[in-house]
Amino acid sequence: MITYADDKVVICGPGPTRVIRDEKDGQDRWCFKCRKRREFRFIVTTAVDWEHDYYGPSGSIHCAVCHLTDGDCFPGRYRMWGEE
Ligand SMILES: [Zn+2]
Repeated sequence: MITYADDKVVICGPGPTRVIRDEKDGQDRWCFKCRKRREFRFIVTTAVDWEHDYYGPSGSIHCAVCHLTDGDCFPGRYRMWGEE
């Protein structure tokens, strides 16, 4: 996934998506990539073209500095959304 911080357009999968929600996620915590405590952002993206958004909005947690998805999870582990 490529995130452009300036215009908030995310390239992910077959088409461009846009950020519909971007908010601070809880307390600052350790990022395994930065190897420092960072702010984390809860970001929800959806397809730019609503009619072709087959997957619906998708949420993810990103480090606010390096933008690594699930940077606060131990390397090799990822969040499971709605299937725990
Ligand atoms: Zn980071």
